[in-house]
Amino acid sequence: MRLLLVELERHFPLLTKLKQPLAETFGFEVEVAREIYAPAYGAFNAARSQWDGENLLRQLSSAFQHAPYSAVLAFFPYDLYAKGYRRAFGIAENNGKVAVVAYHYLDPALHGNPDEELFLRRLVKKSVHEIGHVIGLPHCTRPYCVMNFARTLLFLDRKQAAFCSKCRFLLGAQRPAESVD
Ligand SMILES: [Zn+2]
Ligand SMILES: [Zn+2]
Repeated sequence: MRLLLVELERHFPLLTKLKQPLAETFGFEVEVAREIYAPAYGAFNAARSQWDGENLLRQLSSAFQHAPYSAVLAFFPYDLYAKGYRRAFGIAENNGKVAVVAYHYLDPALHGNPDEELFLRRLVKKSVHEIGHVIGLPHCTRPYCVMNFARTLLFLDRKQAAFCSKCRFLLGAQRPAESVD
């Protein structure tokens, strides 16, 4: 299976550092898209000064529907929201193909504490979590599991980047056989 990582709006240098951990976690081939994708401005909600995650996801879904990848994970540099949530660190098509990680608030530098290792750990957790949704995994109630829903950065920092035994089992059951694609 192949996973495509996509930069939205601007170059994101940390992206290449996610290739290896994601390849190891899922056993996917991981590539980085050569072109930066610029979503339509219609996804921006001026009243909230935030971007509409669902709108962004729909755009990406149609832009990459024929791309020869099992999953497409896009990295967005601005503040994102989703229906019912003030802010979203990520959004995914459940049992679909496309997901977004909104990394603006994940960067410790934004909170006055530049720490690239911490930033990277958060990015890996968010990426694994969103790809988990794309593969079809729901949220997990175990607080340390990567599929646990992290409401805040504190919860995100507490959980691990790995799947619990139950989610690992589900992952194996959901994943299509290698020969399918
Ligand atoms: Zn989730
Ligand atoms: Zn779990």
